[in-house]
Amino acid sequence: MDETRFIPISAIQHFRYCARQCALIHIDGLWAENQYTAEGTLLHRHVDTPGSRFNPRPMDTESNPSDVEFVMQSQDKARKRTFHAMPLVSYQYGITGKADSVEIILNKHGKITAPPRPVEHKRGKPKRDNTDAVQLCAQAICLEEMTGWKITQADLFYHSTRQRIAIEIDQPLRIITCRLIDEIREMIELNQTPRPIYGPKCRQCSLRFQCLPKGTDRSKNPHLYLTRAVPVSLSNRDFS
Ligand code: SF4
Repeated sequence: MDETRFIPISAIQHFRYCARQCALIHIDGLWAENQYTAEGTLLHRHVDTPGSRFNPRPMDTESNPSDVEFVMQSQDKARKRTFHAMPLVSYQYGITGKADSVEIILNKHGKITAPPRPVEHKRGKPKRDNTDAVQLCAQAICLEEMTGWKITQADLFYHSTRQRIAIEIDQPLRIITCRLIDEIREMIELNQTPRPIYGPKCRQCSLRFQCLPKGTDRSKNPHLYLTRAVPVSLSNRDFS
């Protein structure tokens, strides 16, 4: 695929959260921090530094299902190596990004003996929908193309609850992920930012002051828009 048509993996999660948020970030180039994005950035500090390490701790198969495989292999002196901030790409699907962590099992000769296992770190707690799973699936798709391994399992680690949850990279999840990738590419190539749909998610959105979802929603009248938009606009101006 033409590299100018590549989309960042992060756009998938933005789009799943809100198509307008995705467009504001990836078409209009807007970004703003709030409490939630800042907390996420802080929590990601230790996985955003590229590098790798061997895991020296004893494996814990109860809290970490992926360690089961390690224990089985450990009689053979296999070791788990964790890579952080690993660059990812899929030329087939036209996506690129970075994996927080990728765990790889090596045998005593240093050969990879099992599929790489991406682990995505999240600030909050497990979600009811598949917003986080589709991002993980996109990472798995990239790793499959990069390594030749078929990946069927990956993990989400939630810092608020300290839970590590195994996600099956199955066919339905792959179909949803690929459909989202196509929809995002179409939106970006059409250069169209969708209108806002005001809802509970807007309260946690870091772009709500750029988006003005209450004022720019078509269902609202122009007077209401002006009374809300003008003070925000003036407060962002530097009159010095
Ligand atoms: S404020 Fe609401 S509508 Fe606007 S980008 Fe954020 S989530 Fe989407």
